[in-house]
Amino acid sequence: MSPPTVVWFRKDLRLADNEALFAAASRDGPVIPLYIFDEGVGGRPPGAASRWWLDKSLRSLAEDLNRLGAPLVLRRGGAAEVLKRLVAESGAKAVYWNRLYDQASIVRDTRIKADLNAGGVEALSFAGGMLNEPWTVKTGSGTPYRVFTPYWRAARVRIDMCGPAPVVKKLRANPAPLASDPIDAWALHPRAPDWSGGFAGWRPGETGALDALKTFLGSRLNAYQDERNRPDRSGTSRLSPHLHFGEISPRQIVDVIRRDEERSGAPTAGSEAFLREIGWRDFNYQLLFHASDMEHSPLNPIFGGFPWRQDRRALAAWQSGRTGYPIVDAGMRELWTTGWMHNRVRMIVASFLVKHLLLDWQLGERWFWDTLVDADLANNVAGWQWVAGSGADAAPYFRVFNPVLQGEKFDPDGVYVRRWVPELATAPSRFIHQPWRAPTAVLAACGIRLGVSYPEPIVDHAEARTRALAAYERIR
Ligand SMILES: Cc1cc2nc3c(=O)[nH]c(=O)nc-3n(C[C@H](O)[C@H](O)[C@H](O)COP(=O)(O)OP(=O)(O)OC[C@H]3O[C@@H](n4cnc5c(N)ncnc54)[C@H](O)[C@@H]3O)c2cc1C
Repeated sequence: MSPPTVVWFRKDLRLADNEALFAAASRDGPVIPLYIFDEGVGGRPPGAASRWWLDKSLRSLAEDLNRLGAPLVLRRGGAAEVLKRLVAESGAKAVYWNRLYDQASIVRDTRIKADLNAGGVEALSFAGGMLNEPWTVKTGSGTPYRVFTPYWRAARVRIDMCGPAPVVKKLRANPAPLASDPIDAWALHPRAPDWSGGFAGWRPGETGALDALKTFLGSRLNAYQDERNRPDRSGTSRLSPHLHFGEISPRQIVDVIRRDEERSGAPTAGSEAFLREIGWRDFNYQLLFHASDMEHSPLNPIFGGFPWRQDRRALAAWQSGRTGYPIVDAGMRELWTTGWMHNRVRMIVASFLVKHLLLDWQLGERWFWDTLVDADLANNVAGWQWVAGSGADAAPYFRVFNPVLQGEKFDPDGVYVRRWVPELATAPSRFIHQPWRAPTAVLAACGIRLGVSYPEPIVDHAEARTRALAAYERIR
Protein backbone atom coordinates (compact mmCIF):
# COMPACT_ATOMS: atom_id res chain seq x y z
CA MET A 1 0.00 0.00 0.00
CA SER A 2 1.20 3.59 -0.65
CA PRO A 3 2.49 5.55 2.35
CA PRO A 4 0.01 7.71 4.30
CA THR A 5 -0.68 11.42 3.82
CA VAL A 6 -1.09 13.63 6.88
CA VAL A 7 -3.79 16.30 6.61
CA TRP A 8 -3.02 19.05 9.09
CA PHE A 9 -6.32 20.75 10.09
CA ARG A 10 -6.09 24.32 11.38
CA LYS A 11 -8.83 26.89 10.62
CA ASP A 12 -10.64 24.52 8.27
CA LEU A 13 -12.53 22.20 10.62
CA ARG A 14 -14.79 20.78 7.90
CA LEU A 15 -14.98 17.97 5.37
CA ALA A 16 -16.66 19.91 2.55
CA ASP A 17 -14.72 22.32 0.30
CA ASN A 18 -11.49 21.22 1.94
CA GLU A 19 -8.83 21.19 -0.77
CA ALA A 20 -6.11 19.63 1.37
CA LEU A 21 -8.37 16.80 2.52
CA PHE A 22 -9.71 16.24 -0.97
CA ALA A 23 -6.20 16.08 -2.45
CA ALA A 24 -5.07 13.63 0.24
CA ALA A 25 -8.17 11.44 -0.23
CA SER A 26 -7.50 11.33 -3.97
CA ARG A 27 -4.12 9.68 -3.37
CA ASP A 28 -3.67 5.99 -3.06
CA GLY A 29 -2.71 5.52 0.57
CA PRO A 30 -4.24 6.10 4.00
CA VAL A 31 -5.06 9.57 5.32
CA ILE A 32 -4.07 10.72 8.81
CA PRO A 33 -6.18 13.72 9.88
CA LEU A 34 -4.28 15.72 12.50
CA TYR A 35 -5.03 18.70 14.71
CA ILE A 36 -2.19 20.27 16.69
CA PHE A 37 -2.91 22.41 19.72
CA ASP A 38 0.10 24.71 19.39
CA GLU A 39 0.09 27.55 21.88
CA GLY A 40 3.64 28.61 21.05
CA VAL A 41 4.73 30.12 17.76
CA GLY A 42 2.36 30.70 14.90
CA GLY A 43 -0.11 33.36 15.89
CA ARG A 44 -1.79 34.26 19.14
CA PRO A 45 -3.10 31.55 21.45
CA PRO A 46 -6.91 31.46 21.35
CA GLY A 47 -8.84 33.41 23.98
CA ALA A 48 -11.10 31.74 26.54
CA ALA A 49 -14.31 31.90 24.46
CA SER A 50 -12.51 30.59 21.36
CA ARG A 51 -11.12 27.69 23.37
CA TRP A 52 -14.68 26.77 24.34
CA TRP A 53 -15.66 26.74 20.66
CA LEU A 54 -12.57 24.83 19.58
CA ASP A 55 -13.35 22.08 22.10
CA LYS A 56 -16.81 21.47 20.62
CA SER A 57 -15.74 21.94 17.03
CA LEU A 58 -12.96 19.36 17.31
CA ARG A 59 -15.33 16.85 18.89
CA SER A 60 -17.70 17.35 15.98
CA LEU A 61 -14.92 17.04 13.39
CA ALA A 62 -13.67 13.85 15.07
CA GLU A 63 -17.15 12.30 14.80
CA ASP A 64 -17.44 13.28 11.13
CA LEU A 65 -14.00 11.88 10.32
CA ASN A 66 -14.79 8.64 12.14
CA ARG A 67 -17.81 8.26 9.88
CA LEU A 68 -15.56 8.61 6.82
CA GLY A 69 -13.25 5.99 8.23
CA ALA A 70 -10.18 7.86 9.52
CA PRO A 71 -9.89 8.92 13.17
CA LEU A 72 -8.69 12.42 14.04
CA VAL A 73 -5.30 12.47 15.77
CA LEU A 74 -4.97 15.16 18.43
CA ARG A 75 -1.52 16.22 19.56
CA ARG A 76 -0.28 19.13 21.64
CA GLY A 77 3.01 20.99 21.19
CA GLY A 78 5.10 22.89 18.67
CA ALA A 79 3.74 22.17 15.20
CA ALA A 80 7.15 21.48 13.60
CA GLU A 81 8.08 18.95 16.29
CA VAL A 82 4.68 17.23 16.32
CA LEU A 83 4.68 16.85 12.54
CA LYS A 84 8.22 15.52 12.49
CA ARG A 85 7.36 12.89 15.09
CA LEU A 86 4.12 11.83 13.41
CA VAL A 87 5.80 11.52 10.03
CA ALA A 88 8.51 9.31 11.58
CA GLU A 89 5.93 7.16 13.46
CA SER A 90 3.61 6.65 10.52
CA GLY A 91 6.03 6.60 7.59
CA ALA A 92 3.95 9.35 5.92
CA LYS A 93 5.47 10.71 2.75
CA ALA A 94 3.22 13.75 2.37
CA VAL A 95 1.74 16.47 4.60
CA TYR A 96 -1.08 18.64 3.23
CA TRP A 97 -2.76 21.71 4.72
CA ASN A 98 -4.89 24.70 3.78
CA ARG A 99 -3.17 28.06 3.94
CA LEU A 100 -3.47 30.67 6.70
CA TYR A 101 -2.72 34.28 5.90
CA ASP A 102 -1.40 35.95 9.06
CA GLN A 103 2.33 36.58 9.20
CA ALA A 104 3.14 34.33 12.19
CA SER A 105 1.44 31.35 10.54
CA ILE A 106 3.10 32.08 7.19
CA VAL A 107 6.57 32.19 8.77
CA ARG A 108 5.95 28.95 10.69
CA ASP A 109 4.41 27.12 7.74
CA THR A 110 7.18 28.18 5.34
CA ARG A 111 9.81 26.80 7.71
CA ILE A 112 7.87 23.57 8.21
CA LYS A 113 7.45 23.14 4.46
CA ALA A 114 11.20 23.54 3.89
CA ASP A 115 12.05 21.08 6.72
CA LEU A 116 9.62 18.45 5.46
CA ASN A 117 10.83 18.80 1.88
CA ALA A 118 14.43 18.50 3.06
CA GLY A 119 13.49 15.24 4.77
CA GLY A 120 12.00 13.85 1.56
CA VAL A 121 8.39 14.48 2.57
CA GLU A 122 6.10 16.28 0.15
CA ALA A 123 4.56 19.34 1.85
CA LEU A 124 1.74 20.97 -0.07
CA SER A 125 -0.52 23.85 0.87
CA PHE A 126 -3.88 24.70 -0.68
CA ALA A 127 -6.21 27.69 -0.92
CA GLY A 128 -7.85 28.14 2.45
CA GLY A 129 -10.83 30.01 3.69
CA MET A 130 -11.07 33.12 1.50
CA LEU A 131 -12.95 33.96 -1.68
CA ASN A 132 -9.79 35.48 -3.15
CA GLU A 133 -6.36 34.90 -1.67
CA PRO A 134 -4.71 38.14 -0.45
CA TRP A 135 -2.25 38.52 -3.32
CA THR A 136 -4.80 38.00 -6.09
CA VAL A 137 -6.75 41.29 -5.94
CA LYS A 138 -4.55 44.32 -6.67
CA THR A 139 -5.01 47.87 -7.93
CA GLY A 140 -4.10 48.75 -11.53
CA SER A 141 -0.64 49.75 -10.33
CA GLY A 142 -0.14 46.40 -8.59
CA THR A 143 -0.51 47.60 -4.99
CA PRO A 144 -2.95 46.20 -2.40
CA TYR A 145 -6.26 47.99 -1.95
CA ARG A 146 -6.69 50.18 1.13
CA VAL A 147 -10.27 51.25 0.36
CA PHE A 148 -13.08 48.73 0.50
CA THR A 149 -15.41 49.85 -2.33
CA PRO A 150 -12.88 49.62 -5.18
CA TYR A 151 -11.48 46.46 -3.59
CA TRP A 152 -14.89 44.82 -3.63
CA ARG A 153 -15.58 45.98 -7.18
CA ALA A 154 -12.42 44.17 -8.30
CA ALA A 155 -12.92 41.16 -6.02
CA ARG A 156 -16.65 40.68 -6.66
CA VAL A 157 -16.23 39.82 -10.36
CA ARG A 158 -13.76 37.06 -9.49
CA ILE A 159 -15.85 35.19 -6.95
CA ASP A 160 -18.18 33.62 -9.47
CA MET A 161 -15.20 31.78 -10.93
CA CYS A 162 -14.32 29.77 -7.84
CA GLY A 163 -16.54 26.83 -6.93
CA PRO A 164 -16.03 24.67 -3.84
CA ALA A 165 -13.87 21.53 -3.88
CA PRO A 166 -15.76 18.23 -4.20
CA VAL A 167 -16.99 16.59 -1.00
CA VAL A 168 -14.86 13.77 0.42
CA LYS A 169 -17.00 10.66 0.93
CA LYS A 170 -14.53 8.10 2.26
CA LEU A 171 -11.06 7.95 3.76
CA ARG A 172 -8.67 5.06 4.17
CA ALA A 173 -7.43 4.86 7.78
CA ASN A 174 -3.81 4.30 8.75
CA PRO A 175 -3.41 0.52 9.32
CA ALA A 176 -1.72 0.98 12.71
CA PRO A 177 -3.64 3.09 15.24
CA LEU A 178 -1.81 6.28 16.23
CA ALA A 179 -1.71 7.78 19.71
CA SER A 180 -4.04 10.73 20.19
CA ASP A 181 -4.50 13.04 23.20
CA PRO A 182 -7.87 12.78 24.94
CA ILE A 183 -9.42 16.16 24.21
CA ASP A 184 -10.42 16.59 27.85
CA ALA A 185 -6.70 16.71 28.71
CA TRP A 186 -6.47 20.00 26.81
CA ALA A 187 -8.94 21.58 29.26
CA LEU A 188 -10.44 23.85 26.61
CA HIS A 189 -13.85 23.87 28.26
CA PRO A 190 -13.82 26.24 31.27
CA ARG A 191 -13.99 24.67 34.72
CA ALA A 192 -14.03 26.16 38.21
CA PRO A 193 -15.92 28.25 37.35
CA ASP A 194 -17.65 27.10 34.19
CA TRP A 195 -18.92 30.48 32.95
CA SER A 196 -20.07 29.16 29.57
CA GLY A 197 -23.78 28.54 30.37
CA GLY A 198 -24.86 31.39 28.07
CA PHE A 199 -23.13 29.75 25.07
CA ALA A 200 -25.75 27.00 24.95
CA GLY A 201 -27.43 28.46 21.85
CA TRP A 202 -24.38 27.80 19.66
CA ARG A 203 -23.80 24.60 17.72
CA PRO A 204 -20.10 24.45 16.88
CA GLY A 205 -19.14 22.09 14.05
CA GLU A 206 -19.80 21.62 10.36
CA THR A 207 -23.42 20.48 10.74
CA GLY A 208 -24.20 23.45 12.98
CA ALA A 209 -22.62 25.77 10.41
CA LEU A 210 -24.61 24.36 7.50
CA ASP A 211 -27.83 24.51 9.53
CA ALA A 212 -27.11 28.14 10.50
CA LEU A 213 -26.63 29.02 6.82
CA LYS A 214 -29.82 27.22 5.86
CA THR A 215 -31.86 29.00 8.55
CA PHE A 216 -30.43 32.35 7.52
CA LEU A 217 -31.07 31.86 3.81
CA GLY A 218 -34.55 30.51 4.44
CA SER A 219 -35.80 33.20 6.79
CA ARG A 220 -33.52 36.25 6.96
CA LEU A 221 -31.56 36.80 3.74
CA ASN A 222 -34.31 38.68 1.90
CA ALA A 223 -34.60 41.28 4.65
CA TYR A 224 -30.86 41.30 5.45
CA GLN A 225 -30.17 44.69 3.93
CA ASP A 226 -32.85 46.37 6.05
CA GLU A 227 -32.44 44.34 9.22
CA ARG A 228 -28.69 43.86 9.50
CA ASN A 229 -28.21 46.97 11.63
CA ARG A 230 -30.92 46.10 14.17
CA PRO A 231 -29.58 44.40 17.30
CA ASP A 232 -33.15 44.04 18.60
CA ARG A 233 -33.94 41.61 15.76
CA SER A 234 -32.29 38.42 14.53
CA GLY A 235 -31.36 39.87 11.16
CA THR A 236 -27.86 38.52 10.60
CA SER A 237 -26.48 35.05 9.95
CA ARG A 238 -24.37 34.49 13.11
CA LEU A 239 -21.98 32.57 10.92
CA SER A 240 -18.88 34.42 12.16
CA PRO A 241 -17.53 31.75 14.56
CA HIS A 242 -18.28 29.02 12.01
CA LEU A 243 -16.38 31.01 9.37
CA HIS A 244 -13.51 31.75 11.73
CA PHE A 245 -12.95 28.08 12.54
CA GLY A 246 -13.52 27.11 8.93
CA GLU A 247 -16.54 24.90 9.64
CA ILE A 248 -17.97 26.43 6.49
CA SER A 249 -16.08 28.24 3.74
CA PRO A 250 -16.99 31.51 2.01
CA ARG A 251 -16.91 29.62 -1.31
CA GLN A 252 -19.63 27.26 -0.06
CA ILE A 253 -21.74 30.25 0.96
CA VAL A 254 -21.37 31.84 -2.48
CA ASP A 255 -22.17 28.52 -4.11
CA VAL A 256 -25.37 28.01 -2.10
CA ILE A 257 -26.52 31.60 -2.74
CA ARG A 258 -25.76 31.26 -6.45
CA ARG A 259 -27.81 28.04 -6.68
CA ASP A 260 -30.69 29.70 -4.79
CA GLU A 261 -30.58 32.60 -7.23
CA GLU A 262 -30.60 30.28 -10.21
CA ARG A 263 -33.73 28.65 -8.81
CA SER A 264 -35.48 31.96 -8.10
CA GLY A 265 -34.27 33.66 -11.28
CA ALA A 266 -32.49 36.78 -9.96
CA PRO A 267 -30.08 38.01 -7.29
CA THR A 268 -31.81 39.77 -4.41
CA ALA A 269 -30.64 42.95 -2.67
CA GLY A 270 -30.25 40.80 0.43
CA SER A 271 -27.81 38.40 -1.17
CA GLU A 272 -25.62 41.19 -2.61
CA ALA A 273 -25.53 42.95 0.76
CA PHE A 274 -24.63 39.68 2.47
CA LEU A 275 -21.86 38.84 -0.02
CA ARG A 276 -20.47 42.31 0.52
CA GLU A 277 -20.03 41.55 4.23
CA ILE A 278 -18.22 38.33 3.39
CA GLY A 279 -16.16 40.62 1.14
CA TRP A 280 -15.23 42.74 4.18
CA ARG A 281 -13.81 39.62 5.75
CA ASP A 282 -11.59 39.03 2.70
CA PHE A 283 -10.66 42.72 2.66
CA ASN A 284 -9.51 42.57 6.29
CA TYR A 285 -7.53 39.39 5.66
CA GLN A 286 -5.66 41.01 2.78
CA LEU A 287 -5.01 44.13 4.90
CA LEU A 288 -3.39 42.03 7.63
CA PHE A 289 -1.48 40.01 5.05
CA HIS A 290 0.05 43.15 3.53
CA ALA A 291 0.49 45.06 6.82
CA SER A 292 1.33 42.42 9.37
CA ASP A 293 2.27 44.99 12.03
CA MET A 294 -1.30 46.34 12.09
CA GLU A 295 -1.94 43.92 14.96
CA HIS A 296 0.13 46.25 17.17
CA SER A 297 0.49 49.53 15.28
CA PRO A 298 -2.01 51.92 13.75
CA LEU A 299 -2.21 51.65 9.97
CA ASN A 300 -2.30 55.43 9.86
CA PRO A 301 1.03 56.32 11.54
CA ILE A 302 -0.16 59.67 12.93
CA PHE A 303 -2.14 57.69 15.50
CA GLY A 304 1.15 56.35 16.90
CA GLY A 305 1.36 59.50 19.03
CA PHE A 306 -2.28 59.55 20.17
CA PRO A 307 -2.59 60.74 23.81
CA TRP A 308 -4.52 57.74 25.16
CA ARG A 309 -5.54 57.91 28.82
CA GLN A 310 -4.81 55.31 31.47
CA ASP A 311 -7.90 54.56 33.52
CA ARG A 312 -8.40 51.09 34.96
CA ARG A 313 -11.74 51.89 36.55
CA ALA A 314 -13.18 53.14 33.29
CA LEU A 315 -11.87 50.06 31.48
CA ALA A 316 -13.42 47.77 34.10
CA ALA A 317 -16.77 49.61 33.86
CA TRP A 318 -16.72 49.16 30.07
CA GLN A 319 -15.75 45.48 30.29
CA SER A 320 -18.46 44.65 32.80
CA GLY A 321 -21.22 46.67 31.09
CA ARG A 322 -21.55 49.33 33.79
CA THR A 323 -20.85 52.59 31.94
CA GLY A 324 -24.33 54.02 32.51
CA TYR A 325 -24.99 54.12 28.74
CA PRO A 326 -27.61 51.41 28.20
CA ILE A 327 -26.76 50.44 24.60
CA VAL A 328 -23.06 50.12 25.50
CA ASP A 329 -23.80 48.10 28.62
CA ALA A 330 -26.25 45.85 26.77
CA GLY A 331 -23.59 45.06 24.15
CA MET A 332 -20.87 44.33 26.67
CA ARG A 333 -23.18 42.02 28.62
CA GLU A 334 -24.35 40.23 25.49
CA LEU A 335 -20.67 39.63 24.67
CA TRP A 336 -19.83 38.32 28.14
CA THR A 337 -22.87 36.06 28.29
CA THR A 338 -23.02 34.65 24.75
CA GLY A 339 -19.53 35.18 23.31
CA TRP A 340 -20.95 37.29 20.46
CA MET A 341 -22.13 40.83 19.87
CA HIS A 342 -24.10 42.38 17.04
CA ASN A 343 -21.93 44.30 14.53
CA ARG A 344 -23.71 47.63 15.03
CA VAL A 345 -23.22 47.35 18.79
CA ARG A 346 -19.55 46.34 18.31
CA MET A 347 -19.10 49.67 16.55
CA ILE A 348 -20.90 51.57 19.32
CA VAL A 349 -19.02 49.99 22.24
CA ALA A 350 -15.68 50.27 20.44
CA SER A 351 -16.28 53.91 19.65
CA PHE A 352 -17.25 54.52 23.28
CA LEU A 353 -13.97 53.01 24.51
CA VAL A 354 -11.67 54.91 22.16
CA LYS A 355 -13.54 58.22 21.96
CA HIS A 356 -15.64 58.68 25.10
CA LEU A 357 -13.16 57.02 27.44
CA LEU A 358 -10.06 57.82 25.34
CA LEU A 359 -8.59 54.38 26.02
CA ASP A 360 -6.26 52.65 23.56
CA TRP A 361 -8.10 50.51 20.99
CA GLN A 362 -5.69 47.67 21.74
CA LEU A 363 -7.23 47.29 25.22
CA GLY A 364 -10.61 46.73 23.62
CA GLU A 365 -9.21 44.48 20.94
CA ARG A 366 -7.64 42.24 23.61
CA TRP A 367 -10.88 42.07 25.59
CA PHE A 368 -12.79 41.07 22.48
CA TRP A 369 -10.09 38.51 21.71
CA ASP A 370 -10.69 36.77 25.02
CA THR A 371 -14.48 37.00 25.08
CA LEU A 372 -15.66 36.54 21.46
CA VAL A 373 -16.34 33.05 20.13
CA ASP A 374 -15.60 34.50 16.67
CA ALA A 375 -12.37 36.28 17.75
CA ASP A 376 -10.45 36.59 14.52
CA LEU A 377 -7.14 38.42 14.23
CA ALA A 378 -7.81 40.14 10.89
CA ASN A 379 -11.45 41.07 11.53
CA ASN A 380 -10.90 42.12 15.12
CA VAL A 381 -7.83 44.25 14.54
CA ALA A 382 -9.28 45.80 11.38
CA GLY A 383 -12.65 46.39 13.11
CA TRP A 384 -10.99 48.16 16.03
CA GLN A 385 -8.70 50.24 13.85
CA TRP A 386 -11.63 51.17 11.64
CA VAL A 387 -13.58 52.48 14.62
CA ALA A 388 -10.53 54.17 16.13
CA GLY A 389 -9.99 56.08 12.88
CA SER A 390 -6.48 54.69 12.39
CA GLY A 391 -7.36 51.85 10.01
CA ALA A 392 -7.83 51.46 6.28
CA ASP A 393 -10.90 53.18 4.90
CA ALA A 394 -11.65 54.11 8.51
CA ALA A 395 -14.49 56.09 10.02
CA PRO A 396 -13.04 59.59 10.47
CA TYR A 397 -11.93 60.11 14.07
CA PHE A 398 -13.92 63.33 14.42
CA ARG A 399 -17.19 61.47 13.79
CA VAL A 400 -18.04 60.53 17.39
CA PHE A 401 -21.03 58.21 17.77
CA ASN A 402 -23.64 59.49 20.20
CA PRO A 403 -24.62 56.32 22.11
CA VAL A 404 -28.08 57.71 22.91
CA LEU A 405 -28.92 58.52 19.28
CA GLN A 406 -27.41 55.22 18.10
CA GLY A 407 -29.59 53.37 20.60
CA GLU A 408 -32.72 55.28 19.59
CA LYS A 409 -32.07 54.65 15.90
CA PHE A 410 -31.15 50.98 15.97
CA ASP A 411 -33.04 49.78 19.07
CA PRO A 412 -36.03 52.14 18.94
CA ASP A 413 -38.20 50.39 21.50
CA GLY A 414 -35.31 49.36 23.71
CA VAL A 415 -35.97 45.65 23.18
CA TYR A 416 -32.24 44.89 23.02
CA VAL A 417 -31.42 47.00 26.08
CA ARG A 418 -34.25 45.48 28.12
CA ARG A 419 -33.00 41.97 27.26
CA TRP A 420 -29.43 42.58 28.41
CA VAL A 421 -29.87 45.25 31.09
CA PRO A 422 -32.77 43.91 33.11
CA GLU A 423 -32.38 46.69 35.69
CA LEU A 424 -33.92 48.98 33.05
CA ALA A 425 -36.54 46.55 31.76
CA THR A 426 -39.45 48.61 33.08
CA ALA A 427 -38.17 52.01 31.88
CA PRO A 428 -40.47 53.83 29.42
CA SER A 429 -39.18 53.65 25.82
CA ARG A 430 -38.48 57.38 25.61
CA PHE A 431 -35.98 57.11 28.49
CA ILE A 432 -34.60 53.64 27.87
CA HIS A 433 -31.44 54.97 26.17
CA GLN A 434 -30.97 57.88 28.58
CA PRO A 435 -32.49 56.99 31.96
CA TRP A 436 -30.76 59.98 33.59
CA ARG A 437 -33.18 62.24 31.72
CA ALA A 438 -36.24 60.60 33.27
CA PRO A 439 -38.02 62.50 36.07
CA THR A 440 -37.29 61.09 39.53
CA ALA A 441 -40.92 60.06 39.96
CA VAL A 442 -40.82 58.05 36.71
CA LEU A 443 -37.64 56.26 37.79
CA ALA A 444 -39.10 55.60 41.24
CA ALA A 445 -42.28 54.15 39.70
CA CYS A 446 -40.12 51.78 37.64
CA GLY A 447 -38.01 50.75 40.63
CA ILE A 448 -34.85 52.26 39.09
CA ARG A 449 -32.37 54.01 41.38
CA LEU A 450 -29.63 55.63 39.33
CA GLY A 451 -26.24 55.24 40.95
CA VAL A 452 -27.63 52.30 42.96
CA SER A 453 -29.50 49.78 40.79
CA TYR A 454 -27.98 51.11 37.54
CA PRO A 455 -24.94 53.42 37.19
CA GLU A 456 -25.02 57.11 36.33
CA PRO A 457 -23.17 57.77 33.00
CA ILE A 458 -19.44 57.55 33.66
CA VAL A 459 -18.78 60.45 31.28
CA ASP A 460 -20.96 63.19 29.91
CA HIS A 461 -21.38 62.74 26.15
CA ALA A 462 -20.80 66.39 25.20
CA GLU A 463 -17.72 66.71 27.43
CA ALA A 464 -16.30 63.41 26.21
CA ARG A 465 -16.79 64.45 22.60
CA THR A 466 -14.98 67.77 23.16
CA ARG A 467 -12.14 65.95 24.94
CA ALA A 468 -11.83 63.40 22.10
CA LEU A 469 -11.72 66.08 19.42
CA ALA A 470 -9.09 68.02 21.38
CA ALA A 471 -6.96 64.86 21.63
CA TYR A 472 -7.31 64.34 17.89
CA GLU A 473 -6.23 67.95 17.21
CA ARG A 474 -2.94 67.18 18.98
CA ILE A 475 -1.95 64.53 16.43
CA ARG A 476 -3.59 65.86 13.28
C1 LIG B 1 -14.66 46.46 16.82
C2 LIG B 1 -15.05 45.27 15.95
C3 LIG B 1 -14.49 44.04 16.18
C4 LIG B 1 -14.84 42.93 15.39
N1 LIG B 1 -14.25 41.72 15.66
C5 LIG B 1 -14.55 40.66 14.87
C6 LIG B 1 -13.94 39.39 15.10
O1 LIG B 1 -13.09 39.21 15.98
N2 LIG B 1 -14.32 38.34 14.30
C7 LIG B 1 -15.23 38.50 13.30
O2 LIG B 1 -15.53 37.52 12.61
N3 LIG B 1 -15.80 39.69 13.05
C8 LIG B 1 -15.50 40.77 13.80
N4 LIG B 1 -16.10 41.98 13.54
C9 LIG B 1 -16.98 42.11 12.36
C10 LIG B 1 -18.48 41.85 12.60
O3 LIG B 1 -18.92 42.53 13.72
C11 LIG B 1 -18.82 40.37 12.75
O4 LIG B 1 -18.21 39.61 11.73
C12 LIG B 1 -20.34 40.16 12.67
O5 LIG B 1 -20.98 40.89 13.68
C13 LIG B 1 -20.65 38.68 12.83
O6 LIG B 1 -22.03 38.45 12.88
P1 LIG B 1 -22.77 37.65 11.72
O7 LIG B 1 -22.02 36.40 11.43
O8 LIG B 1 -24.19 37.53 12.12
O9 LIG B 1 -22.60 38.65 10.50
P2 LIG B 1 -23.38 38.77 9.12
O10 LIG B 1 -23.89 40.16 9.04
O11 LIG B 1 -24.34 37.68 8.94
O12 LIG B 1 -22.21 38.68 8.04
C14 LIG B 1 -21.77 37.45 7.47
C15 LIG B 1 -20.29 37.28 7.65
O13 LIG B 1 -19.58 38.34 7.01
C16 LIG B 1 -18.44 38.69 7.78
N5 LIG B 1 -18.59 40.07 8.25
C17 LIG B 1 -19.74 40.72 8.55
N6 LIG B 1 -19.48 41.99 8.91
C18 LIG B 1 -18.14 42.12 8.86
C19 LIG B 1 -17.25 43.20 9.12
N7 LIG B 1 -17.68 44.41 9.50
N8 LIG B 1 -15.92 42.98 8.98
C20 LIG B 1 -15.46 41.78 8.58
N9 LIG B 1 -16.25 40.72 8.31
C21 LIG B 1 -17.57 40.90 8.45
C22 LIG B 1 -18.40 37.75 8.97
O14 LIG B 1 -17.56 36.66 8.65
C23 LIG B 1 -19.84 37.32 9.10
O15 LIG B 1 -20.01 36.08 9.72
C24 LIG B 1 -15.76 43.10 14.33
C25 LIG B 1 -16.34 44.35 14.11
C26 LIG B 1 -15.99 45.43 14.91
C27 LIG B 1 -16.63 46.77 14.65
